[in-house]
Amino acid sequence: MKKQGHSFYSGSDIEIIAKLIALGDDFVDGIEKMAQKVRGAYALIILSRGKIYAARDKHAFRPIIIGQKEGSLIVTSESCSFINLGCTIVRDLKPGEIIEIEGDKFETKKIIPSPFVQYCSFEWVYTANVASTIDGLPVDIARRNLGAALARRYPVNVDVVGAVPNSGIGHAIGYAQESKISFDAVFIKYDYASRSYTQPTQAERDREAKIKLIPVPAKIAGRSVVICDDSIVRGTQMKNDLVVKLRKNGVKQIHARVACPPLKAPCMYGVATRSKKELAAHGKTVEQLKEYMGLDGLAFNTLDDLSAALGKPLCDLCTSCWTDQYKV
Ligand code: SF4
Repeated sequence: MKKQGHSFYSGSDIEIIAKLIALGDDFVDGIEKMAQKVRGAYALIILSRGKIYAARDKHAFRPIIIGQKEGSLIVTSESCSFINLGCTIVRDLKPGEIIEIEGDKFETKKIIPSPFVQYCSFEWVYTANVASTIDGLPVDIARRNLGAALARRYPVNVDVVGAVPNSGIGHAIGYAQESKISFDAVFIKYDYASRSYTQPTQAERDREAKIKLIPVPAKIAGRSVVICDDSIVRGTQMKNDLVVKLRKNGVKQIHARVACPPLKAPCMYGVATRSKKELAAHGKTVEQLKEYMGLDGLAFNTLDDLSAALGKPLCDLCTSCWTDQYKV
């Protein structure tokens, strides 16, 4: 595109997408032409004069959903934003669908065909808001299913089930319900901490990770715990922070249960995971990972259990960050 005279200013991929769409005869034609050129994931909402266009990539990696309220239509990436607005869900955009919204009506203008879909399974595991529903499956239910699957496959005799808050809470509740071991808030999250793994520099990630978890001493001393988490990315938070804080507070044993398989490869579809060599599980067995992080026990959900918990066949799910195989 640069050879054709285009200039780029932002460093963001959306600028490339916008310029490709602008090459079309109209928005729908532009989105279709853009979709022929780009490989991967997108979910677009385009505000134009008097109309809104929304488009989901043909593999449906990312969620995008239509809602309504008193004759108004709303389109957003996550349905949690409907709740306080008093909107109800109309439906998710279909894979490859382009819609045009005008006033209180929407119309499907095009469906870009694809022989297969690849829903990002990490949305349900971690990325999405727990109050959202994606493609008919509430995120909260998905997380409880994942926790319950861990309890069935990897039971452990402990006094309490805890979570890495907040995204591990749903998994931990599922584990607790299935195992009949009570859930307790072993850690609470410092309200002003942001997601440590999305921070751009190592120093910022370390700072966020350190302040994020506040242990509750009365719930830890003299007890054995199983801690549920959504995923292990670099493993530094569990190793240098969570385990250290639990041991300092007199924990008897620490077991960890992780809602997805070990992360082994980066995401090529827009989620800010780390490069292979930064991922804790890269090149390590589960046993080595357990020793590295100073845990007494460690287990991860299998791909089959993940697929069952999400109620979707494995072939319809993107699992590239666990398999290191990319279908798109
Ligand atoms: S690689 Fe992982 S995070 Fe990226 S789209 Fe696939 S499942 Fe989601």
